Amino acid sequence: MINLVLFGKPGAGKGTQAEFLKSKYELFHISTGDLFRHHITNATDLGKLAKSYMDQGDLVPDQVTIDMLKVAVESNPETKGFIFDGFPRTTKQAIALDEFLSEKSMSITATVALEAADDVLIGRLLNRGITSGRVDDQDEVKIRNRFDEYNSKTAPLRDFYEDQGKFHSVNGIGSIDEITGRLTLLIDSFL
Ligand code: AMP
Repeated sequence: MINLVLFGKPGAGKGTQAEFLKSKYELFHISTGDLFRHHITNATDLGKLAKSYMDQGDLVPDQVTIDMLKVAVESNPETKGFIFDGFPRTTKQAIALDEFLSEKSMSITATVALEAADDVLIGRLLNRGITSGRVDDQDEVKIRNRFDEYNSKTAPLRDFYEDQGKFHSVNGIGSIDEITGRLTLLIDSFL
């Protein structure tokens, strides 16, 4: 089984790359952002709660996010592995993920951060906001708040996974194909 975590600031290309990786390695893709957006579309209680945080560019509280992630994993017992996209985003989530996977005799194979400079990311997000309609992609103040959330809460996970020998980073600037090439070269080295 291969279980990958994709890190990266908003706009780094996690979702785009996860689409390629899931078909190449036959993995199940779990994006917590997509799951929340699905709840928002269906106007569930969780969706209403998540929206109040997401629209501001704040992280949704850990426990509801962890519980939602667990349901997604448990709903796909037959997969050859998972791509976790946008999860974990805090140390509490990372600890919960390790504990949860180990109860199932599973573990994270590797974590990969897609790196790109903030000004490049802001350009990509504002562009995406024009077509996606995502409120959190349309306003630079909210985008910068998402970067602040990443820097203060998610960036420390680099040390967390480096201590486990599982942290890798890949240059996220270039064409989609170039970045997929870099990722597959790295992932093939774990197989
Ligand atoms: P994303 O689609 O990954 O950019 O996520 C969009 C938004 O969903 C984030 O800005 C957060 O508000 C929320 N979100 C997604 N994943 C998480 C997570 N692991 N922990 C907390 N909030 C999350």
